[in-house]
Amino acid sequence: MSEHISLDTARRYAARPKTGREPGKVFLVGAGPGDPELLTLKAARVLREAEAVVFDHLVGEGVLELLNPAARRIYAGKEAGNHSLPQDQINSLLVELAREGLKVVRLKGGDPFIFGRGGEEMEELLASGIACEVVPGITAASGISACTGMPLTHRDHSRTVVFTTGHLKDGTVNLDWAALTRPQQTVVIYMGLGALDIICVELVAHGLAADTPVAVVHAGTTPAQITVTGTLDTIVGAVREAKLRSPALIIVGSVVSLHALLGQQNCIDQLALEA
Ligand code: SAH
Repeated sequence: MSEHISLDTARRYAARPKTGREPGKVFLVGAGPGDPELLTLKAARVLREAEAVVFDHLVGEGVLELLNPAARRIYAGKEAGNHSLPQDQINSLLVELAREGLKVVRLKGGDPFIFGRGGEEMEELLASGIACEVVPGITAASGISACTGMPLTHRDHSRTVVFTTGHLKDGTVNLDWAALTRPQQTVVIYMGLGALDIICVELVAHGLAADTPVAVVHAGTTPAQITVTGTLDTIVGAVREAKLRSPALIIVGSVVSLHALLGQQNCIDQLALEA
C-alpha cells in the first residue's frame, strides 16, 4: 500500500527523531514511459535496494512491482491541477528521509531531467548537504517514438527535434512559435493536451501548413496506448472524438506520416502476440 501524503504527514516526517545513522542518499530515478522493460538495469537495481520511495502518478504499475517490498512507499501525486504535495514539501520530505539515513528513491516518469523537475530537486538536496545521483530514464518522446513507428529524426523528413511543454499558464501558452515552425523539424509537446487547439492554431498562424501531420498518443508503451493521427487542421476533432485523456504526447511533423508503415511493428502488439 502506498501512503497518499498530505502536508500534515510531510510535517510529521520532518518532525521524526533522527535514527543516528549516517545521512543516506537520494537517487532521482527515471521510470521510463510505462513499460517496465524500458527501465535501465541501474534503475532496476536501485529500486530493489531502496528503503524509501517517493513516486509520481506517471510511474507505471509494473515498475512499482520491482520495488523492494520492504521499502516505505510515499505517493507524491502530481496530476495537472491536483498537486497532492507541493514541490517544496516534496523537497523537504526527500531531505528528511535521507537524514534518517535511508537509501531514498525519487521515482519519476520518463527521465527526471526532462520536464520532471529533477533539477530543482537536486539543487535543493545538494544545498541541504544530501548526496544525490541521477539515474536517467527513457523519456516519453523516445519510448513513444519507438512504439508508434515515428522516428524523431529521419533524413527525408526532419533533421531537428524539439521538446517543449504546452502546459497552460493563466489560460495561455507562451511558446517560441517562430522556433517551433522551422522546416524539417519534429516538435514534441509534453503536457499539451489541454492546449491542443491553441497549439494547432498558433503553428498554422506562424507558417506551418495546415496539412502538417500530427499524432497524439495516450499512455504510450503501456497496454492502454492509443494513437490518434491527423493534421494541424483535423487533429483537435479526432482527439475529441477518441475522447483521449492525459497523459498524452503530441508529435508534429512529417515523421508522423511514417506511422502508417513503421507503426505496424508496434511493440505492444508484439508483446500481445508473445503472451
Ligand atoms: N519526465 C517525463 C515527463 C513528465 S511531464 C518524461 O521524460 O517523459 C508529463 C507529460 O509527459 C505528460 O503530460 C505527457 O505529455 C508526457 N508523458 C509521459 N509519459 C507518457 C506516456 N506514457 N504516454 C503519453 N505521454 C506521456
